[in-house]
Amino acid sequence: MMTGDMGTHHMDAEEIESYSLGSLSEGEAAPFHEHLLICGQCRKKVEASDAYVAAMRGAARLIRQTAAQAKAGSRSGARTRSAGSS
Ligand SMILES: [Zn+2]
Repeated sequence: MMTGDMGTHHMDAEEIESYSLGSLSEGEAAPFHEHLLICGQCRKKVEASDAYVAAMRGAARLIRQTAAQAKAGSRSGARTRSAGSS
């Protein structure tokens, strides 16, 4: 199978995910970018994947914030000094 003929090669799920995540180098992403210009089918898949990645990143940020807040809360609780423990 020829891989140099990316113009007519539809992106598979893995490629779409890598493209959405931005984990491809510019050179790797270029043929996909070109393909997306001519292929609405893959563009739709990438858009869906983009939305998913954005949602995941938003959720991850939220989890990190919540975890940081929980940590800060438990730390301030643990730092309650018991007087005269020297
Ligand atoms: Zn395609």
